[in-house]
Amino acid sequence: MGERVPGDFIDDARIEQTLRDTRRPDSGRVREVLAKAKTLCGLTIDEAAALMPVSDPALLGEMFDAANHVKNAIYGRRIVIFAPLYISNLCSNECLYCAFRVRNKEVRRRALTQEEIARETRILVEQGHKRILLVAGEAYPEQGFSYVLDSIRTIYSVKSGPGEIRRVNANIAPLTLDEFKQLKEVGIGTYQLFQETYHRDTYRRVHLAGRKVDYGWRVTAFDRAMQQGIDDVGIGVLFGLFSWNYEVLAMLQHIRHLEQEFGVGPHTISVPRIEPAVGSNMAEHPPAAVSDIDFRKIVAILRLTVPYTGIIMSTRETANLRRELFALGVSQISGGSRTNPGGYSEEGLQEDNEAQFSLGDQRSLDDVIQDVARLGLVPSFCTGCYRLGRTGKDFMDLAKPGEIRHHCDPNAFSTFTEYLQDYASPETKAVGDALIAQAIGEMEPDEARLVGGMVEKVRAGGRDVYC
Ligand code: SAM
Ligand code: SF4
Repeated sequence: MGERVPGDFIDDARIEQTLRDTRRPDSGRVREVLAKAKTLCGLTIDEAAALMPVSDPALLGEMFDAANHVKNAIYGRRIVIFAPLYISNLCSNECLYCAFRVRNKEVRRRALTQEEIARETRILVEQGHKRILLVAGEAYPEQGFSYVLDSIRTIYSVKSGPGEIRRVNANIAPLTLDEFKQLKEVGIGTYQLFQETYHRDTYRRVHLAGRKVDYGWRVTAFDRAMQQGIDDVGIGVLFGLFSWNYEVLAMLQHIRHLEQEFGVGPHTISVPRIEPAVGSNMAEHPPAAVSDIDFRKIVAILRLTVPYTGIIMSTRETANLRRELFALGVSQISGGSRTNPGGYSEEGLQEDNEAQFSLGDQRSLDDVIQDVARLGLVPSFCTGCYRLGRTGKDFMDLAKPGEIRHHCDPNAFSTFTEYLQDYASPETKAVGDALIAQAIGEMEPDEARLVGGMVEKVRAGGRDVYC
């Protein structure tokens, strides 16, 4: 037998065949697949592919309704809120779509000091954030990878009034086994990494220099993370590099591989689309730009296929589209984000030529929270599962029978109440308090007692109340 190629679980020939087989929409088959998806058991890769060519508005409407049904059944009213924290834009790779690429002279390079990271964190804590996504380019200052570990320790160490960061996730380049071990020890939440494109030729064309040229090293990163016990991983594709249909099927193959090898799939899926970036022609003119309507389809298909995996939408999308996508399956968003190192403490001095890409949504966290609450959704800052050790397979086992709602919903209400008590503007507080009262009024008596009790505890001064 020949040697295995790293990442051979991405089976190009199989994807191409599936796409050929499902080129024409078959409305009977589509309805069959939607009926199955509504039972919350997920879909096979072939079934997901059968939904891709749907374009008839009525059938598309049925697909979106089914996604909305699944989203409501599993996630209820919750939308988890986080903030990205860019600690450095140093990078030795040449990814043609990114402002941080090594040959881009238009970007000023900067790695925050630990004092600067603490200052950025304090600002996020004082806005009301509890969850941070640490982001960095793939080149660290002289201390090497310990820079990332020190930065995570710094973030966890910051306290301000009643506030603190309770979960640090990280989007950083693939690590060695030993580095993943250290990342686990420092208390990482989710390790997030996007393959960018699963299509090998395209991957080669858009990654021209540095460690990142190695497709196999990147696509096997989650295997190494999971071997070291990091069982919350966040998968993603950068949409716009190659055909979205291909990318979604390949990402589903990657998910199935993790399920087979480790008994658990990813905790989250991210769906970034390429945004304009300083010094990048490719970002200005993406080779396979995804339209808004196809983007809605991507979110709906993912929601129906992997119902228990959170879907993350970043600041990259505009407020209006984000609102629509909540209904289709998005369960996590960033709020009040900056994508340049130092961007929170140096607000107003914001340097576009240090940022990674331009933002579709420039609103403050309070505006985002108020908007979400006005839609009848409950912004959640919950980190209960992670702190109770309910990660990876334990989380999925709980999530699958719908049990997680008995934890997530109450925890969403208690952490939202914390936000309203400690950080909200008077207007947001009024909107939020009214939403909580109305939601509790609509609950079954047992749930109303539990949620009402937790909300009252927070209003009476209790903090970090979770179940
Ligand atoms: N350097 C690490 C890496 O590439 O894996 C992690 C940080 S990198 C800044 C995080 C992600 O930003 C990348 O994985 C890529 O998907 C995304 N990104 C890069 N350029 C972008 C652009 N122009 N628009 C939207 N997202 C972009
Ligand atoms: Fe560097 Fe990541 Fe940007 Fe590529 S995507 S240039 S690796 S920061």
